[in-house]
Amino acid sequence: MLDLMIRGGQVVTPWGVGDWDVAVQGEKIVAVAAPGTMTDDVGRIVDATGKIVAPGGIEPHAHIAAPIMGHGDLTTAPPEQVSRAALFGGTTTLLDFAIQYPGIDINQAVQERTSVWQGNSYADYSHHLMMLGAIPGNILGQLNEFVTDGFATVKIFTTNIRPPTSQGEPRMVGTGHLHDLMEQIQRSGAMLLVHSEDDDMVQHMYRKLTEEERTEWWNMPLVHSNESEDVSFRRVLRVAEWTGSPVYFVHVSARQGVQAIGEARAKGMPVYGETLHNYCCFSAENYREENGMKYHTYPSLKSEEDRLSLWDGIVNGGLSTMATDEYCTTWDVKIAGRTISDVTGGHNGAETRVGITYSEGVSKRGMTLQRFVDVTSANAAKIMGLYPRKGVIAPGSDADLVLIDPSIKRRLTGSDFHITDYSIWDGFDIEGWPVMTILRGKVVVENGEFSGTLGGGQFLRRKVDPGISNKPGC
Ligand SMILES: [Zn+2]
Repeated sequence: MLDLMIRGGQVVTPWGVGDWDVAVQGEKIVAVAAPGTMTDDVGRIVDATGKIVAPGGIEPHAHIAAPIMGHGDLTTAPPEQVSRAALFGGTTTLLDFAIQYPGIDINQAVQERTSVWQGNSYADYSHHLMMLGAIPGNILGQLNEFVTDGFATVKIFTTNIRPPTSQGEPRMVGTGHLHDLMEQIQRSGAMLLVHSEDDDMVQHMYRKLTEEERTEWWNMPLVHSNESEDVSFRRVLRVAEWTGSPVYFVHVSARQGVQAIGEARAKGMPVYGETLHNYCCFSAENYREENGMKYHTYPSLKSEEDRLSLWDGIVNGGLSTMATDEYCTTWDVKIAGRTISDVTGGHNGAETRVGITYSEGVSKRGMTLQRFVDVTSANAAKIMGLYPRKGVIAPGSDADLVLIDPSIKRRLTGSDFHITDYSIWDGFDIEGWPVMTILRGKVVVENGEFSGTLGGGQFLRRKVDPGISNKPGC
């Protein structure tokens, strides 16, 4: 007897899209077959007529239970809150960061994350390693062991992001350290995530705008500028070319970023770009609204032209993943900072990412269903080393599924959001929205009802396939 059958839906697989039945036994998909060709001896049959059946979403970029810069001991929302909201929105796997602060080693960073997540997540999860500032030789020496142990990804920053006057650890990894790290990444078969901006240009603009008394938050695009993204991406790509390291650029925000990634990929370099659904749907013009700092995520929203370029990269290729930079605070914290130096970046979007990408991408821009799955799930699984356990509807893969009802047309309101007390998506019109989420064979969200298990989420070990780390594989 089968445990679960999803019957009559439009199923999205790498081999095509069709009206197929998906059979589930335990936590795994065991078959995808023509309608009515499998046994009726099934524990539960879900009628998916009229629905899209896609792999559960994978959020590759989230800051969960992370210190909020400039707010003392406050942290962003914890796993139990974010993972629940993510499942409501059709995302079944979350990746956050184990931060190797100065004075601790990688093992301590991983243990800290384990203590935060273990037993506290409704969704599956894993952690990127994050390294700050000048990376000591002994830390670099530990890296291969952790990559081998299933921590396949490392994130760094090429900028301190905020001005020296604000609190927080120095984050910038200089070009020399970047070079050494990239050599190690290449040797270990890992993936390097880079927040890439030119720190000299960023800090120069903080000082200049302060001198000119132009510190209102809507000047952020002048600090975290198109030119800075362009210059920094190209420097990182030059070092990647010398070292052979793969690079995944987080939160691409400017058309120059898309262009630089495209040129590198055309040369056969293993380079990938991520953007954010908040970057695709809002622009720097939104900063001008009352409390418009609510839209801010570092680096910065850019122009309308940039926004359209990001959509082009998502819909037609060039960018590989749609993420959120999840960083969930309360409304009061989010709008407390009002200048270029003290605004709070980040976005509570893990819940809305899949639905907004479907609505804006598929319904309004004609993106194919296979491309929709690539940017919300499959590519993140491949780049972060989870494929084919995650990111694909195929026999042997985890039965992580989201059912989307394309006939839903309405305006999002407060009751659509299951985390914190505000959303920038409140009032956004959508066409198509997730209605059911299945995590490893268990229905966890159905018609707005949540039935997930706290602690039911599993930690995931990861390994990047050489077809991804040696060439542009997706
Ligand atoms: Zn981030």
